[in-house]
Amino acid sequence: MPSAKAYAAHQAKEPLKPFELERREPGPHDVLVDILFCGVCHTDLHQARDEWGSGGYPMVPGHEIVGRVEAVGSSVKRFKPGDLAGIGVLVDTCRACGSCKEGLEQYCEGTIVWTYGGVERETGKPTYGGYSTKIVADENYVLKVSPKLKLHEAAPLLCAGITTYSPLRHWGAGPGKKVAILGLGGLGHMGVKLGAALGAEVTVLSSSSKKKEDAFRLGARRFADMSNPRSFKDNAGHFDLIVDTVSADHDFTAYMELLKREGTLVLVGLPPKPPSISPFAMAAKRRAVAGSHVGSLREIQELLDLCAEKGIGADVEVIPMQKINEAFERLAGNDVRYRFVIDMSSLKA
Ligand code: NAP
Ligand code: ZN
Repeated sequence: MPSAKAYAAHQAKEPLKPFELERREPGPHDVLVDILFCGVCHTDLHQARDEWGSGGYPMVPGHEIVGRVEAVGSSVKRFKPGDLAGIGVLVDTCRACGSCKEGLEQYCEGTIVWTYGGVERETGKPTYGGYSTKIVADENYVLKVSPKLKLHEAAPLLCAGITTYSPLRHWGAGPGKKVAILGLGGLGHMGVKLGAALGAEVTVLSSSSKKKEDAFRLGARRFADMSNPRSFKDNAGHFDLIVDTVSADHDFTAYMELLKREGTLVLVGLPPKPPSISPFAMAAKRRAVAGSHVGSLREIQELLDLCAEKGIGADVEVIPMQKINEAFERLAGNDVRYRFVIDMSSLKA
């Protein structure tokens, strides 16, 4: 069985530590991927620290994986050794329900096998994520990565990119649409780049003015510092769509008031505390609140291909695996512009 070096969380309040694991022997439909880069999503932090109550230790986080195929099973058709490959938040689904059949497997009505914190169908063992040197997955859940992409900048497309791209597409962001991205972090900065690439008028709603210049550089046409109460007045009733990426509790009703009649507030951020939203703010203008979960494999492939064509990647700070605990602290303190990406060669030396 292929063995891998990794970093794992062993308890909610402990730093991640070096960990050795064995991947399953690749079956006929599997690919073995040598991991080159893995992004650090705020979900990894929520999960490693058990903020959602769904922990299971030891936990090897990481679901923004880019690597090179090392070996393929006998029936694999889409990959050969040497190809570039990407893996996002899930590595298998039931493949039989309506959502899976419609190509919306991220909404599978059966069991989703998460890239980490799931249970491997083939072995019944826990899944371990991308903070590791190798991974084995069914080829149907592996994405093709163009050599035109810069790999360290492409890794965050597998979660941060797709989680903003999918709602932008679903709710029709494009020319003539006024879109707000709430929270300029890993997800938010991709939302700005992608919203602008789709032709929407993008406004960044941020908790301070520190990221104003960055917002314009990333493609925003407007910026509002929401620590200033005037910003709520100035932007009242302005937006068709707000993509809320904030990872902590905040005043959802106040942001709802920034929507036009029939506008939609899409929650992609997953703060541990459930939101409280006034029904009056919704009813008064037939506004909606919705959620959105990553994106489908088909949509991720579309995004990867679009980014390869347009030269879009994440703004990243590349770190060695050994700096992950420092990176977690900085991520918790809103001190990253805009995604940490682990260079996995640091574990292979
Ligand atoms: P991140 O890089 O930490 O960005 C979150 C941003 O939210 C921060 O940069 C900050 O932006 C803002 N923020 C943080 N704390 C805040 C507070 N107390 N009040 C107001 N604003 C605050 O995190 P991320 O990786 O983008 O992930 C964001 C959230 O999305 C997490 O909850 C994560 O679990 C979730 N997520 C969901 C999905 C999905 O499929 N739905 C997928 C991936 C991640 P400003 O500095 O601009 O205020
Ligand atoms: Zn993520």
